[in-house]
Amino acid sequence: MSIPKGLKIAVPAALGIPAALGAVRAAAANKTLPIVPPAVSWTPEEAQRYAEKLSAMVQIPTLSKKEDEPYETFLTFQETLAALFPRVFETLENHDLNGNLLRRWKGTDPDRNGILLMGHQDVVPVDQAGWTKDPFSGAIEDGCVWGRGAMDCKSTVCCELQALEELLEEGFTPKQDIWFFASRNEENSGGGADAVAAHLREQGVRLDLVLDEGGAIVDGMIPGLSMPVAAIGVVEKGFCNVKFTARSAGGHSSTPPKNSPLIRLSKLMVEVDKKMPFRAKLVTPMPEILDNVAPYLSFPLRFLLVNRNVFGGLIKAAFVHLSGQTRAFVQSTAAFTMAQGSTAPNVLPDEASVICNIRPSQQQNAEQTVAVLRKIAAKYDVEAEVLFSRDASKTSSPDSAEFKQLAENLRACLPDCVVTPYLMTGGTDSRRFEIVCDNVLRFTPTRLSKAQIEAMHAANENVTISAIAEGVKIYKYLLTHR
Ligand SMILES: [Zn+2]
Repeated sequence: MSIPKGLKIAVPAALGIPAALGAVRAAAANKTLPIVPPAVSWTPEEAQRYAEKLSAMVQIPTLSKKEDEPYETFLTFQETLAALFPRVFETLENHDLNGNLLRRWKGTDPDRNGILLMGHQDVVPVDQAGWTKDPFSGAIEDGCVWGRGAMDCKSTVCCELQALEELLEEGFTPKQDIWFFASRNEENSGGGADAVAAHLREQGVRLDLVLDEGGAIVDGMIPGLSMPVAAIGVVEKGFCNVKFTARSAGGHSSTPPKNSPLIRLSKLMVEVDKKMPFRAKLVTPMPEILDNVAPYLSFPLRFLLVNRNVFGGLIKAAFVHLSGQTRAFVQSTAAFTMAQGSTAPNVLPDEASVICNIRPSQQQNAEQTVAVLRKIAAKYDVEAEVLFSRDASKTSSPDSAEFKQLAENLRACLPDCVVTPYLMTGGTDSRRFEIVCDNVLRFTPTRLSKAQIEAMHAANENVTISAIAEGVKIYKYLLTHR
C-alpha cells in the first residue's frame, strides 16, 4: 500500500510541532451541545394531518415532462394543492408561468427585498427494482409516508405550503414579500426555474434569501460524529459531459492490431481512475464544515482538525483517498458512464467512444477540468468533444447576515444538531436565482436517515411522519424570526 503524499509531508511536520500546544488547542475546542428544549413542537394529531396531505400529493404521479409536452397531471396536482392549502391559494398573488407555480405573499414594507421558498412539483421515474409498495400509493405505514416524491421534493413543498397556510390562519403579516416557487421540470433540468428567475429580474425583484431543497438534517453521515448535522448547502458543483473518441482503420478481429480504439480509450480511463488528476483543495465550505464539526468529535479526530495548519495535507489526502464521496468534496470528479464500440463481436471498430460525466469543482472550472483530461487523452490519440458544460454555482457566503440568521434560528429549533454550511455534489434549481439573490441556500428542515437518503431517486422513497411535522414548524419559525 502506498502512503498518500499528504501523509508523507504531514507526519514529519507533525513530529516537529510542539504536540502539547496542539493538544491544548484541541482540548480548548471541545464543545458539547446545550441541553435546552427545541423552539418548535407539534402534536401527534398535527403530524398525522400533515402526513395525510403529503400522501395526497404523492398519489398524483407528477413525472417530469419536457417543456413542450402536455402537463395535465401537474394541473391536477395544483388543484389538489389548492384544496389542501386553501388560504395560500386564495390569498397569495398568482404569478404562475407555464405550469410552474409562482406565488407572492406581499409584505408590508415595500423597501425590503423579498425572500423565496422553493421546491419542485415533478418526480423522477419509478422503474427501479425493489419497490415493496406502490410508488404512487402514498401509503402511511410504519411511521412514514411512502412513495415517489415523498422526500424529493413533495415533503419540502408540503412543509413550506403548510407553514404559509398556518401563518395566514394565525393572521401573520410579513414585512417583506414571501415568494413561493415550484417548478414542474427540475428533475430533467427543464427551463421552469430559468424562466421564473428571468421573470423576477425583469420585474425588478431582488431577494435577500432563496431557500431550496438540498441539505437536510442527517444522521450518521460524518464518521466519528454522534449527533445529527443540519447541513445548509451554500454551493453546488458543476456538470459537464465530454465524449472521448478514438479512431483507426478498423481491421479484422482475427488479426487485431495493437492499440485499437477501445484499448486506447481504456488506457485513458485507467490513467484517470488511477491518478485522479484534478486539483484537490479545501475551499469554502470545507474549512467551515471542519471548523463546525471538529469541537464535537472525539479526541484524535478533533486534534487533527483543530491543528489544520499542521495536518492540512494529511486531511486533504484523507478526503481524496477515503471514498468517492469524500473525494467529491475536495476536487472535480470524472465518471465514465457510457461506451460504444463496433456493432458485432467479430468486428474491430473504426471508431469507439466513451462518455465522461464530470462534476467540476469550485477551484477548477469545467474548462480547466476538461483541459486536464484532454492532455491525457492526447497521449493516447483520443479526441475530446464537450457535449454540455456548466461550472459550479456561486458560493453563498457562510459569513453573510442571512446565513448567520438561518444558522442561529436552526440552532434554536434543533438544539441536538450541529449546524454547518455544506457543499452539494448534485444540482438543484436554486442556482438559477443567483441573478436576483446573493444568498442562495439549499436546506430542507427534514430529518433523514442514511437509508432514507439512499432511497431518493431509488426504490422505497419515504419520509418520517414526525420529520414532516418538524419541518412545518421550522419553516414557520424561520419566517417569523427574521
Ligand atoms: Zn429534488
